[in-house]
Amino acid sequence: MPSYWVQTLGCPKNEVDSDVIEGSLRRDGMDAASSPDEADLVVVNTCAFIEAAREESVSVVLDLAERRRDGARVVVTGCMAERYGDELADALPEVDAVVGFAGQVGLGGEGSAGDGSTGPSPATPVAVPVRRTGTAAVAPALDLSHVLRGPSVRPWAYVKVAEGCDKSCGFCAIPSFRGAQRSRPIGDILEEVERLQVQEVVLVAQDLAAYGRDRTSERPGERRIVELVRAVAERVPWVRLLYLYPSELTDELLESVASGPVPYFDLSLQHVSAPLVRAMRRWGDGERFLERIERIRGLRPDAALRSNFIVGYPGETERDHERLLDFVRAARLDWCGFFAYSVEEGTHAAGLEGRVPDELVSLRLRELGELQDRITAARRDELVGAEVEVLVDAPGRARSHREAPEIDGVVHVPGSLAVGGFHRVRVVAAEGPDLRAVP
Ligand code: SF4
Repeated sequence: MPSYWVQTLGCPKNEVDSDVIEGSLRRDGMDAASSPDEADLVVVNTCAFIEAAREESVSVVLDLAERRRDGARVVVTGCMAERYGDELADALPEVDAVVGFAGQVGLGGEGSAGDGSTGPSPATPVAVPVRRTGTAAVAPALDLSHVLRGPSVRPWAYVKVAEGCDKSCGFCAIPSFRGAQRSRPIGDILEEVERLQVQEVVLVAQDLAAYGRDRTSERPGERRIVELVRAVAERVPWVRLLYLYPSELTDELLESVASGPVPYFDLSLQHVSAPLVRAMRRWGDGERFLERIERIRGLRPDAALRSNFIVGYPGETERDHERLLDFVRAARLDWCGFFAYSVEEGTHAAGLEGRVPDELVSLRLRELGELQDRITAARRDELVGAEVEVLVDAPGRARSHREAPEIDGVVHVPGSLAVGGFHRVRVVAAEGPDLRAVP
């Protein structure tokens, strides 16, 4: 049986796409290889979010192409393939195919593109018919309504509920190549949730809280995230939401998350200084964000909060930076990521003046990172002695509602606790971002 290896880079949303790719390869009669060196087909699902991610994607492609066994094929897909397809195909002759979201990545028979109609044909040279599919101007046709995912191998899984984004943040190129928001029907999502057989579902989308607004044939312009969260919560003990745009945080949504077993709020804030937030073409400011955070903590004092910020957006002044530092001190979020602004071709910000010198960006990043590390450590220290419910992901490794998988810290527990089970444990120590707990 021919075998495949799928290497995933970038964000949780890409993990879901990789699951879909793996499902379609298995349907085509392929089997997972135990390492990339042994696979007949190596698929690299790339990330193009910022320059560093693009560099990583290229270096992983080159490395896997070098390591592949004789006769194996390398296919590049994902955001970078969608966005830079032609350039990538020209720049990486090592690669057999560059496939955008509309394409398929199988080892096909001649012309079959691995659609299963002719069956797998490992002896035939790879016939992925496209070096490049789709254009940036056309919404990609990644068909989320036929997601083929079997039971998850982990006790948790990401579930992508929409593709694309209707916002136009100044720094972000995602809407230009992922297209406008297309929400999946609730029924399809629930079917996938049931098939996964997990204890925790992590809902993701580019703009999660706006879920459902594009489904105009049902209830035009209405968000349906609360309805979705409730329906998923009836099927899975834990439901976690990632990437909540602040203006979409309705009282109903806050209350629904705060009253559940996972009071975790991942707020996509990006900056707090009003002039800069406007220059980013986004909503809100530090004061309004603090008000929402207070409201969340009023509803649920043990809520965990996370956010991300961009440092060095064009025109960011010392005053803007001070405002962000003040906000970070006042908000005392559990988790925070700070990222250097990176110029994205074709975005509004790419044409703005006032570039912040790299050294200054590094300095600001360091200052913010050190401040937040102290806050995160202090918040973790406060938990020593507390009793928490954890889900065990792997022997000795668990998480409570405060830790999103693969993003935040973890809770170290005795290896004897059953994987995939919920346990009540007592925190006995804080070790940087991690906790140690015993039954
Ligand atoms: S909300 Fe803004 S940052 Fe997020 S994907 Fe949409 S445009 Fe990009």
